Amino acid sequence: MNIEEKIKNLREELSKHNYSYYVLDSPVISDFEFDMKLKELQELEEAHPEFYDPNSPSVRVGGMITRNFETVVHEHRMYSLDNSYSREDLLEWEKRIEKILGAENVNFTCELKYDGASISITYENGKLLRAVTRGDGFQGDDVTNNVKTIRSVPLVLRGDYPPKFDIRGEIILPYEGFTKMNQERIEAGEDPYMNPRNTASGSLKLQDSAEVARRPLDCLLYNLTGNNLGVHTQFESLQKAREWGFKVPDTARLCHTVQEVFEFVDYWDIHRHAMPYETDGVVIKVNDIVQQEELGYTAKSPRWAMAYKFKAEQVSTRLNSISYQVGRTGAVTPVANLEPVLLAGTTVKRASLHNADQMEKLDIRIGDEVFVEKGGEIIPKIIAVDFTKRDPESLPLSYISNCPECGTPLIRKPGEAQHYCPNTYGCPPQITGRIQHYISRKAMDIEGLGSETVELLFKEGLIDNYADLYELTKDQVVPLERMAEKSAENLVNGIEKSKEIPFERVLFALGIRYVGETVAKKLARAFGSIENISKASLEELCAVDEIGIKIAESVIEFFSDEGNVLIVKRLRDYGVQLEISADKLENLSDALKGVTFVVSGVFEKVSRNELKKLIEDNGGKVASSISSKTNYVVAGANMGPSKKDKAEKLGVAIISEDDFLNML
Ligand code: AMP
Ligand code: ZN
Repeated sequence: MNIEEKIKNLREELSKHNYSYYVLDSPVISDFEFDMKLKELQELEEAHPEFYDPNSPSVRVGGMITRNFETVVHEHRMYSLDNSYSREDLLEWEKRIEKILGAENVNFTCELKYDGASISITYENGKLLRAVTRGDGFQGDDVTNNVKTIRSVPLVLRGDYPPKFDIRGEIILPYEGFTKMNQERIEAGEDPYMNPRNTASGSLKLQDSAEVARRPLDCLLYNLTGNNLGVHTQFESLQKAREWGFKVPDTARLCHTVQEVFEFVDYWDIHRHAMPYETDGVVIKVNDIVQQEELGYTAKSPRWAMAYKFKAEQVSTRLNSISYQVGRTGAVTPVANLEPVLLAGTTVKRASLHNADQMEKLDIRIGDEVFVEKGGEIIPKIIAVDFTKRDPESLPLSYISNCPECGTPLIRKPGEAQHYCPNTYGCPPQITGRIQHYISRKAMDIEGLGSETVELLFKEGLIDNYADLYELTKDQVVPLERMAEKSAENLVNGIEKSKEIPFERVLFALGIRYVGETVAKKLARAFGSIENISKASLEELCAVDEIGIKIAESVIEFFSDEGNVLIVKRLRDYGVQLEISADKLENLSDALKGVTFVVSGVFEKVSRNELKKLIEDNGGKVASSISSKTNYVVAGANMGPSKKDKAEKLGVAIISEDDFLNML
């Protein structure tokens, strides 16, 4: 097989697996095998740029930078939808369209209304050509590079598709991925995102497509647009799109009467809560395309479609006060303190107000009666003020201008919604927040020391930063509130023991902005010591897998602060691990340099991924298929018979898991 064919085969194979995994949700091969094939393809493509294809599955990992998103005029306008809120609204709509059509018994396709960012994707000859945001409906931004990283969006179509068409859908962020992203952000000292929808639409406008690729976005399609598409109904177009490889939820129903539409609406009003992503209603569409064309459009929306919005669970209560919280990174968050009220089964006392813009938009005042709603977000939010109940004497609120904790004037960076207290090293919650992060379980995991004790130690003037912890003596701690001989001893011992925590966790513990657990590991491995990291240039940092410019800049900023440099120096003097330890280094040996392995079957002592990692950590290479260049096949249970044959034919040594581990 020549190289071109090999590349072509790999691309086809990977597309197929992508489809099974992300669209059908039923993977055929393991993640590991997939990664190996992808790696093989990437290597071949790199070596043979002449076979470049903008729709190769390798573009899924991103890496394209878009500085300015080009404005593109939609060939077919993207409309909004009219909203309805009741059965009466829907019945009226039905009457209206039946009158225009002079017909009775219109059929409808009912779909869920996915809450994300709308997108229009153009395909030509079965290839993804362009993806454009809705914008103002007439023109939007070209976000092709970013959309191509979304695994469920087909780059190449299957089946019998028309030569050219646009398909519209919604880019969404399922709850699970959203929650995970937020956990990682909180760990890395970043503010959590407000809700899945905004995060999905924000993701489309990121400049670095590799960053988009890391986000667990999905794309659900619902509309075909174009000429001579060969479909006659909305329901059929959904089926067709599905056949061509698009992800089209199978929740859509063909309804023959308004009664059936009501049943659909009622069913999903309850069951939507069990969906893995946010939905805010249903969309009801006249099924027959000829009838759709006859009905046409108003200035804003199609006459043939109607959104029905679900009512979110809502209550009203009194706003007692607003407090402003300052986080570890200095971000200020306004929080509404409410008169406790029961909402969706839990008592709500507080609600996030997000930021100054949000407060202004609500025109919220102390003493107001406000409507509180629980949407997809974890924290309930205030949607509106009940102006009919406003005390005429009440005064407009103004956002605080100084830090409530340290009095420093707040700043707001251009383009950011949040206010910040810039007094990083003097603002109490920022100081204690950093120390609390340092001692936390995933960081230094210091036993005998908790968040409250950190605050107490700080208040007593015993610590100002995490390096100060190592100067604490038992005698200083014993007299503190709720401390005794034994607990003071535990605390000091716990701190002493933290000197054994490996470097990668220390690096995470330092609380450098954007350096979460995973990034810390990558940096530790790539540079080996804090010394090297602190000296690394922007380019060197960015050269590390998964380290983007934002992280790199933050690392540089951290080490350009003299205070930080001093603290790190002190940590070193106390004996904290600031480089990869000797046995870790040994682990990262060259023992397998120049040796190529193929891994096959199921293992007992280590997982396949661990095995692969062990090979690579020790300088070896993992290949996905056996060739004359393979040195060893590590065989577990159920090794494939064809692999076995091939190895024997080529005279490649087959070794067991134990043989391999002994090799190390
Ligand atoms: P709105 O933004 O409230 O005017 O609602 C219109 C938007 O709903 C469209 O632009 C789509 O992005 C979105 N939408 C979500 N699900 C669907 C669906 N199944 N059919 C049509 N539009 C949908
Ligand atoms: Zn402050």
